[in-house]
Amino acid sequence: MGCDRPQGGYSRHAFDDAEMQLRQWFAEQAQRRGLDVENDRNGNVWAWWGAPAPGAVVTGSHLDSVPGGGAFDGPLGVVSALLAVDELRVRGITPARPLAVACFLDEEGGRFGLPCLGSRLLTGAADADQARRLHDADGVSLADAARRVGFDPSTMGPDPARLATVGTFVELHVEQGRLLRSVDPTAAVGVASEIVAHGRWRLTITGQGNHAGTTALTDRSDPMIPAAAAVLAARRALSGFDGAVATVGRIVPVPGGTNVIASAVSLWLDVRHADATVTAAVVDAIVADVRAEAAAEGCTVMVQRESMSDRVAFDPGLGLEISGRLDVPVIPTAAGHDAGVFAAHVPTAMLFVRNPSGVSHAPDEHADAADCVTGVQALADVLENLVGDINPAARHVGAGDE
Ligand SMILES: [Zn+2]
Repeated sequence: MGCDRPQGGYSRHAFDDAEMQLRQWFAEQAQRRGLDVENDRNGNVWAWWGAPAPGAVVTGSHLDSVPGGGAFDGPLGVVSALLAVDELRVRGITPARPLAVACFLDEEGGRFGLPCLGSRLLTGAADADQARRLHDADGVSLADAARRVGFDPSTMGPDPARLATVGTFVELHVEQGRLLRSVDPTAAVGVASEIVAHGRWRLTITGQGNHAGTTALTDRSDPMIPAAAAVLAARRALSGFDGAVATVGRIVPVPGGTNVIASAVSLWLDVRHADATVTAAVVDAIVADVRAEAAAEGCTVMVQRESMSDRVAFDPGLGLEISGRLDVPVIPTAAGHDAGVFAAHVPTAMLFVRNPSGVSHAPDEHADAADCVTGVQALADVLENLVGDINPAARHVGAGDE
């Protein structure tokens, strides 16, 4: 679903046909398990085992992808959650508190630019009026995209009643790097300690559109020159900032013709470091380089911060308890997740499933099937402990009979 032939990966974006197809698949899988499926006001889908009530244990992830992404980022957490429900039933567990499997809207921000859109709207971390006006590369607003698939965008916004039902949130995710392997080569699963500070900035560089042949070099204001400086600065500016990473993964020249000097270039800068002040300093250093190059070329630069997430430390007690229970290592991550949004409100944990190559957000993203099964077992162990069992004695007898 959503397979992107030219790039060889998956492209599923919020409310597009491929993502809606996967939502349908999710609803069918949940209903097949007797879970009650509902959409919330912010485009997130919930499947409940037990009636929604405060103190619920929520697990899940997202169904959208980056453009040309891998098969595991997002769906692994959703599929593992459904299989963990199956596993708890095999174990004879009757949850003492409700358990929900949730899929969150536009986690990657691949369509509307703001990552973790659904969880941010739900928790109030994103402004609903601004979000409704976000638009995709074709100029379609979030509000119009929502309406097209039957969601009412006017109801988007903070949902304290729903948030109050979430007692604990646990997200399983494919590892996006190779840290787990370097920490413990035998570990198929790890627990997250923190998400480093990260954000994305849009740089709009404006020059003078002109003819690629007849325009003398001295007459050019070519915005592609400062854009090139931004790409290089994203690497070179890092030398003074240990542990920081910066990436330009997207450049859009306007109008974009081979024999045309662009009139403007938009590019997006992604910067991450454990410390938000370092992240900001890296951005400042890169933007200073771009401004200097733009001034020399007679171009102007406008910088917009599209998103910024400060460092998120996951609940240390919960993380330690889980790593001890599963006997697996604890590792930080430089990737953002809905779990990072929930961590500001409720005890939250993440499980990572080993990714042998470390490649992610690309078609080669991979996790071995055996490791995925280990992940399901680990998630089931964690959920079993969190939901409790309404009748452990009965379960004990039942288990002995098997
Ligand atoms: Zn993800």
